[in-house]
Amino acid sequence: MPSYEEARRIILEQVAVLPAEVQPLQGAVGRVLAADVVMPWDLPRWDNSAMDGYAVRSADCAGPTRLRVIGYIPAGGLPAGPVGPGEATRIMTGAPVPPGADAIAPVEDVEESGHAITLRGAVRPGAHVRRRGEDLRAGEVALGAGAVVGPGEVSVIASAGLLSVPVVRQARVAILSTGDELVEPGQPVGPGQVCDSNGVALAAAVLLAGGLPIQLGIARDDKPALLALLEQGLAADVLVTSAGVSAGDRDLVREALDELQVRQVFWKVDIKPGRPTAFGLRGRTPVFSLPGNPVSSLLTFEQFVRPALLRMMGHRQVYRPLQAALLQEPIARSPGRVNFVRVRLSRRADGALLASTAGNQETGILKTLLRADGIAIVPAEQGKLEVGQVVMVQLLRPDLVEP
Ligand code: AMP
Ligand code: MG
Repeated sequence: MPSYEEARRIILEQVAVLPAEVQPLQGAVGRVLAADVVMPWDLPRWDNSAMDGYAVRSADCAGPTRLRVIGYIPAGGLPAGPVGPGEATRIMTGAPVPPGADAIAPVEDVEESGHAITLRGAVRPGAHVRRRGEDLRAGEVALGAGAVVGPGEVSVIASAGLLSVPVVRQARVAILSTGDELVEPGQPVGPGQVCDSNGVALAAAVLLAGGLPIQLGIARDDKPALLALLEQGLAADVLVTSAGVSAGDRDLVREALDELQVRQVFWKVDIKPGRPTAFGLRGRTPVFSLPGNPVSSLLTFEQFVRPALLRMMGHRQVYRPLQAALLQEPIARSPGRVNFVRVRLSRRADGALLASTAGNQETGILKTLLRADGIAIVPAEQGKLEVGQVVMVQLLRPDLVEP
């Protein structure tokens, strides 16, 4: 049985980055660039004004000076001609600096009177001029392959004149719930029956990771039904099942996967909760068999499936950020294996991160997961968890705990 760290490493070693596809800018958001974006031209494309004001020759402007206004260049306009000695041209932000001029006198620094202006003080060479290529140079790699496309990246891509870019394809993730007790959400729930919440919950987790969930519904604890649906799921990029992997006599998932030539890489990980988690491969297709308990299935998705999906979709950063936090109360733990403790986080006045339990840590209590800001990863060798103890916490909602 692998340790938590070994299981995570093994999974990342086994998964392969998916092929690229060309996407329009909006479709590329959140995805990973599969090729460099090289600037075809300088940015900005010409020297231009950073202010509304007057384009001047700084040599004319050593002190208060009167200049003749010879023209006007709006944004999107072009200079009619050069600015000569003793002359100025009215210019708007972003408009090209006319030949002859080498500085901008902002409108608030001049007195305007008819076709002339008077400068209140000196204008130094280059003042308020944005230089051609000062942001990006023609031929420069503006964005490297591997960059995650966000608003800034889209801005650069559009400024390079591109409407689409190659990005790594989204992972298509087949999700299968298993168990005789399950009913589709929304259907009448009879005695002894349980709503299939894992199917939709795992689909939601796939969506938030940037993948495309394919919901296969419910497989009964019956071999032929299971085989048919698993085979269907194996056509996706990733197959995720829930339940049916512990040692119960109805736990047929492992057997069925074996019959379908899925090579089992590991079964059970030394963690709590989520020990009966299995990982296998058919060819390059990863298969995750998660525990049925809703808390365990979401926690194991978070620890094992999400990083795999992110890696397949080209992300370099696949793990949540970890931060040290001070425990505010003692927390019970199962010694001997890595424990995931659902915690709430807050900031002390001095900025220290504080962790307290998000509630009852029994795996049947989903609301504790809802209240959690993070998951404390308690090492196997860690003894009892006391007040003041430092724990490493995976931040589920980093924005909530900024200073
Ligand atoms: P199992 O792994 O099959 O022993 O299931 C463990 C527990 O998780 C049982 O209480 C199941 O009823 C519950 N469970 C299994 N699958 C689901 C599901 N899709 N949605 C909600 N609960 C489930
Ligand atoms: Mg079951």
